[in-house]
Amino acid sequence: VTTWAGRNITVAGLGVSGISAARALAGFGASVTVVDGGDSPVHQERAASLEAEGIAVRLADAETLPEGTDLVVTSPGWKPGSPLFVAADAAGVDVVGDVEIAWRLRGSDAAPWLAVTGTNGKTTTTQMLASILSAAGLRTAAVGNIGTPIIDVVLSAEPHDVLAVELSSYQLHWAPSLRAHSAVVLNIAPDHLDWHGSMEAYAADKGRIYEGNRVACVYNAADKATEDLVREADVEEGCRAIGFTLGTPAPSQLGVVEGILVDRAFVEDRQQQAQELAEVTDVQPPAPHNIANALAAAALARAFGVPAAAVRDGLRAFRPDAHRIQHVADVGGVAYIDDSKATNTHAAEASLAAYESIVWIAGGLAKGATFDELVAKSAKRLRGVVLFGADRALIREALARHAPEVPVVDLDRTDTGAMLEAVQEATRLARPGDTVLMAPACASMDMFTNYNQRGDRFAEAVRELGAASA
Ligand code: ADP
Repeated sequence: VTTWAGRNITVAGLGVSGISAARALAGFGASVTVVDGGDSPVHQERAASLEAEGIAVRLADAETLPEGTDLVVTSPGWKPGSPLFVAADAAGVDVVGDVEIAWRLRGSDAAPWLAVTGTNGKTTTTQMLASILSAAGLRTAAVGNIGTPIIDVVLSAEPHDVLAVELSSYQLHWAPSLRAHSAVVLNIAPDHLDWHGSMEAYAADKGRIYEGNRVACVYNAADKATEDLVREADVEEGCRAIGFTLGTPAPSQLGVVEGILVDRAFVEDRQQQAQELAEVTDVQPPAPHNIANALAAAALARAFGVPAAAVRDGLRAFRPDAHRIQHVADVGGVAYIDDSKATNTHAAEASLAAYESIVWIAGGLAKGATFDELVAKSAKRLRGVVLFGADRALIREALARHAPEVPVVDLDRTDTGAMLEAVQEATRLARPGDTVLMAPACASMDMFTNYNQRGDRFAEAVRELGAASA
């Protein structure tokens, strides 16, 4: 148990997670200073309300370590090499994130954690898992990288039996003592390499999720990197490695047999080799990558002892969030799909694989990614491509190398309004029966506030088009 009273804690960042950490730690008697590089009216307003609660705030300086600091708490978006952390390191002061604080405050006393990470599918899988746990009558919540800050959840008066926790690679990087009941790494593909520095560092941060697991380390049998991380992890005695596969499962795996999701890892009846869980058609949308998400969620729920019937009920009750392969409209025989959440090449690959003849809208911030593999794999499905955004040249060059015959329209724009033109150009390229797929394979912040706004702008443009053609 950590003692907080009398400690001098510096919280980096005056955002939702920083404010939640500052309040919680001050509540436990720590003396807290929040630092932030900004100094806008919003910052000042937030600072004033924290100061009224006895929490110190220093604005317009994100770099120098306040004197006497003995622990630094990070916020999402702060990179490992940030000057404040470098200064902390030099002073021998630990740097940790909000997940670590939540864990140190309550550990699994609040409720055991079933933890989910991966390059893609985290939110979907975590929500599927929460849906399954609820269907089993357990008091649960989907938390972490989604919605309510994790610290608020573990300190809340509302009792939980188990938590479905989504963890980003950033959060894992800063959470050295976290010990989950069971955890999954869904997949590992290049993403955020600018933040982590290298693929090895990124994978290692994801692999932290398995450290100290008590019951099951769930891995993707089609993604060897996830299995390697399980092998390298230091777990509690008796903790099992459980695989999931879209094919027939081996013992200790979950998989798919003739359209049925089956479990060969946690079999209820010892006379049987496999436990039927649900049908593929119980999963929305029933695209291959999403069946994988459902199997991963089921594996964690089964590790927690949830019966098969609750897996089926929970999957049936689940509906995906907006901007994740969301069907917007059909106009003139062309389907318009919003996959704005495809913010990296691995996610875009999953949705490009789900359609036959595609006009692809892509581009934005590449975050250090390359596009050759994605374009080479998808080339034969492309009717045409419309590009916008800061790093569009990277995609254009990959198309020239691997799909020279596919028509490409480069809008040469990085403004929010470019979405309307992109939809118009895509419509010009499309034939009846085609799909216009906005799965940009890039982050959105060069042109939009976030991926939600990017998806909303796409939907608006499609509606405008529908109105014009009606
Ligand atoms: P995350 O929380 O990891 O960003 P989401 O569940 O929000 O993941 O899904 C993000 C996008 O990733 C989806 O829109 C879809 O294109 C893609 N995706 C979802 N699950 C997978 C998966 N298992 N493998 C590859 N891509 C996926």
